Amino acid sequence: MPVLVMKFGGTSVATLDRIRRVAKRVGVEVAKGYDVIVIVSAMSGKTNELVGWVNETSPLYDAREYDAVVSSGENVTAGLMALTLQEMDVPARSWQGWQVPVLTTSAHSSARIEDIPTDNINAKFAEGMRVAVVAGFQGVSAEGRITTLGRGGSDTTAVAFAAAFDAERCDIYTDVDGVYTTDPRVSEKARKLDKIAFEEMLELASLGAKVLQTRSVELAMRYKVKLRVLSSFEEQSDTAGTLVCDEEEIMESKVVAGVAFSRDEAKMTLVSVADRPGIAARIFTALSDAGVNVDMIVQNIAEEGRTDMTWSCPTIEVQRAQKAVEEAKENGTINYHEVIADVDVAKVSVVGIGMRSHTGVAAKMFQVLSAEGINIKVITTSEIKISVLIDRKYMELAVQALHDAFELEKAA
Ligand code: ASP
Ligand code: MG
Repeated sequence: MPVLVMKFGGTSVATLDRIRRVAKRVGVEVAKGYDVIVIVSAMSGKTNELVGWVNETSPLYDAREYDAVVSSGENVTAGLMALTLQEMDVPARSWQGWQVPVLTTSAHSSARIEDIPTDNINAKFAEGMRVAVVAGFQGVSAEGRITTLGRGGSDTTAVAFAAAFDAERCDIYTDVDGVYTTDPRVSEKARKLDKIAFEEMLELASLGAKVLQTRSVELAMRYKVKLRVLSSFEEQSDTAGTLVCDEEEIMESKVVAGVAFSRDEAKMTLVSVADRPGIAARIFTALSDAGVNVDMIVQNIAEEGRTDMTWSCPTIEVQRAQKAVEEAKENGTINYHEVIADVDVAKVSVVGIGMRSHTGVAAKMFQVLSAEGINIKVITTSEIKISVLIDRKYMELAVQALHDAFELEKAA
């Protein structure tokens, strides 16, 4: 029988009532003839509560025990979902990660899935079980310890199961009804997309759109898993939500698919560093050793052998970055005049695969921002996106103006 993967996020399983409601949806797919693998998150708020308990008990916690505690939220929902399905006479059972087993690396709290052997679950399907309810977000390491995949990780669990079981589709049920051209809370003209290409979704997810964990999109793209994002709060239909798919499946698309933003960015500059081979390597090695996630990088034109080096990183990493460069200065690895941090910036990006073949997108973006009197601090581009760093107070304005200028409220 064809396999369907259905993933339910925290708000979709937040109460016993909601679990009953989504279980009915699972029942509908079973009645259509699918063997279903249901991936569940913890009830909403649960994982945060568990993380809080760990921090309160042990600030410098043992990461293996963090995973043991934090993975438990999903175990509860998996069992409750299986019980609910059984009450509806749907043959179902729950599986924790180690029982499948979901084999992962031992990088606790950010483990990667290495393999999902299908034998155990397939044997149960062959015996007549119709739904395997799997606890998302968790796995087991080669050392036999419980691991977790990082926050939002059950999306990745779902896509990995869809790939392993060669599922017809992977439906991600959440509290929004799909992927939008931008966040509807920022622009009321935001429009739900029927389809979006993997690469666009990947950019949007990593640029701050929070619907899907970035790694899940990466995985879906690699294994060509058809992903659908849809709401568990609305009526079921075959065309609901947004399909994340191969670009060949999208007949017509606009040059720009969406506008993404991330609020908590900071811009840091090392003023007057020596301009010679090896300096950038030393600066960014020091930052990377300190665990700073550097995003944009700009090096100014050098004058008299000195240059300024600017980068952006998440606001919460500024102190760590500052400490890293100060230490590198003290031990003589790098030399600079001063370090400046601007923590009131935001990143706004336009994304679209159409940019590969259309020119003028950057020019138009910069014109729109200039017409609004918004100063651009840093620019980066890739084949399908253009990002700018601007003052945070203009973020909403920039998003709205760009959404209007690229006419994203209209379908292609
Ligand atoms: N419950 C986990 C979290 O809140 C995993 C997930 O829901 O995707 O991050
Ligand atoms: Mg999520």
